[in-house]
Amino acid sequence: MSPDHEHEHDTAHYLCIGCPLGCRLEVDAVDGEVVEVRGNSCKRGKEFAVQEYTDPRRFVTTTVRVEAGRWPRLPVKTAASVPKDRVADVARALHELTVAAPVAMGDVVLADVLGTGVDVVATRDLPRAA
Ligand code: SF4
Repeated sequence: MSPDHEHEHDTAHYLCIGCPLGCRLEVDAVDGEVVEVRGNSCKRGKEFAVQEYTDPRRFVTTTVRVEAGRWPRLPVKTAASVPKDRVADVARALHELTVAAPVAMGDVVLADVLGTGVDVVATRDLPRAA
């Protein structure tokens, strides 16, 4: 086969986080499209590799400042994963956020964070200061 100069070939490596086996995944892509995944022991690994190559996403877990609460900070997380390249911006937005007690676990503390379509929710109850 003659070398293909017109298309952009790429190979990327990931550690699958789908289960404790931690398979080492190798992805071949042409023009940004995944053409082959190797190293996966199951279907989930292939899906993870394609997702990771085409649209990597991460959950953000942190704490935010609380006013009039029993504790000064509230643990929060994104209700779904956000694009990996927005993680630092989301963390910064949450760093600047202050919420008022009381808060119940699951309450949305910041809706549609930075237009990602993902809400940030409280991961515990936080009562008002006694
Ligand atoms: S490819 Fe399958 S078996 Fe391997 S780590 Fe991922 S989920 Fe586990």
